Amino acid sequence: MRVGPDGKPRRRYKVTTGPAAVIIAIVNGKLLIQWHYREIPNEPNTWIWELPAGRVDAGENFIQAGIRELKEETGFIPKAKEEVKLIFNPYSSPGFTDEVKGFVLVECGEQKEQELESGEFLQLHLKAPEELKQMLAKGEIVDLATLLGVYYYLYTYLPGLKGSG
Ligand SMILES: [Mg+2]
Repeated sequence: MRVGPDGKPRRRYKVTTGPAAVIIAIVNGKLLIQWHYREIPNEPNTWIWELPAGRVDAGENFIQAGIRELKEETGFIPKAKEEVKLIFNPYSSPGFTDEVKGFVLVECGEQKEQELESGEFLQLHLKAPEELKQMLAKGEIVDLATLLGVYYYLYTYLPGLKGSG
C-alpha cells in the first residue's frame, strides 16, 4: 500500500492499460478526424469524433505505434517518417489509471489500404480550421484526447506554420 504526503496509507482502485498513441494527422493542411462508433458505458450506440488512436504494442515506441495505427485505421502513411514527432505524452486520468497517451504529429503522404479490426467502425473526415472551431463552439467534440489534439492543431501547429514562413 502506498503512503501519501501526510504519511497515511492510501488505497485506490486502479486500471492498468499501458500506453496509447493518439495521432494528429495532417492531410493537405486539414486535420484527419474519425466519426467513430463507441460503446460508452450507459450510452449505447454512440458515434463520436475521435482522432486516430490505439494501443502501443510491446517493443514499440509512441511514434512507431502512431504510424502503425494511422495506417491500419486510415490507410495514410507519413510523407516523411523521420519528421513524425512526439508532441507530448500526458497521463489520461492519473487518479485511477496508468495510461499515458503519446500525441504523435504526422504529415500524411499517400493513402493505401485501411486494415480495420472486426468490431471497429469509423468514417474518415478531413476538417479545415474553421469547421473545427465550429465543432468546438457547439461542444461536438467530447473525447478529451481529441479535444487536446484539435486545440494543438488550431493553436500551436497552425500558428507555427505561419511563424516559419
Ligand atoms: Mg483505435
